[in-house]
Amino acid sequence: MSESRNVVIVTGIPGVGKTTVINTAVDKVKAEHDEEVLVLNFGTEMFSTASERGLVKDRDEMRKMETAKQREVQRLAGESIAEKAKDARVIVDTHTLIHTNNGFLIGLPEWVIRAISPKTIVLVEADPEKIALRRSDDPTRSRDEQASEAIDTHQRMCRAAAVAGGTLTGATVRIIKNRQGKVEQAGTELADTIME
Ligand code: ATP
Ligand code: AMP
Ligand code: MG
Repeated sequence: MSESRNVVIVTGIPGVGKTTVINTAVDKVKAEHDEEVLVLNFGTEMFSTASERGLVKDRDEMRKMETAKQREVQRLAGESIAEKAKDARVIVDTHTLIHTNNGFLIGLPEWVIRAISPKTIVLVEADPEKIALRRSDDPTRSRDEQASEAIDTHQRMCRAAAVAGGTLTGATVRIIKNRQGKVEQAGTELADTIME
């Protein structure tokens, strides 16, 4: 690896397919390069603290918590992820903007993104109508129902937030389209970024 940084942060709005694309990419890296990738899910780190404190029962309730509580749990998760991400090839599965009851919460504020120091911030994007369908067709999660226009606005704002993260850390920003039924293609692009 010529690149000394070892972390790729993968972002995108709920239901776009981040976790699915990450799993596909990790399998590809294993099969084609015989390399392991450590996947750290930011929401899972936050949920472990939030549920221990009795604040939520379900990961999809966290974005409805008071903003100050979200920020506090986010800070702890960021510290834990930065510590775990010191070695190995790492992917962080997370969001740049969380749709809360009080506007968008910045997913990677300065103190979180500087600690993680990613080499690349990936934005997974898809057609807003397809995202709406993926949300409603996935019974395993309680994702918000949103009109395509609102989904489109959220995706556009996420581009700005990803660029802000790149500005703070020098990370590159890469957009990966997760086209309907084409998760393999998106997974290949992410695998290339991990192995760069
Ligand atoms: P969240 O931020 O809420 O965790 P996510 O971005 O991780 O969401 P996934 O859980 O990976 O999203 O995917 C949401 C749903 O979309 C799943 O049911 C998944 O199978 C489906 N999906 C993912 N990628 C595609 C694709 N390219 N074509 C069709 N369906 C897809
Ligand atoms: P996910 O499974 O990726 O949807 O994550 C579950 C929940 O964790 C999200 O809906 C958010 O409430 C929260 N979350 C994930 N990443 C972040 C982050 N970087 N900052 C704040 N909250 C986050
Ligand atoms: Mg996910």
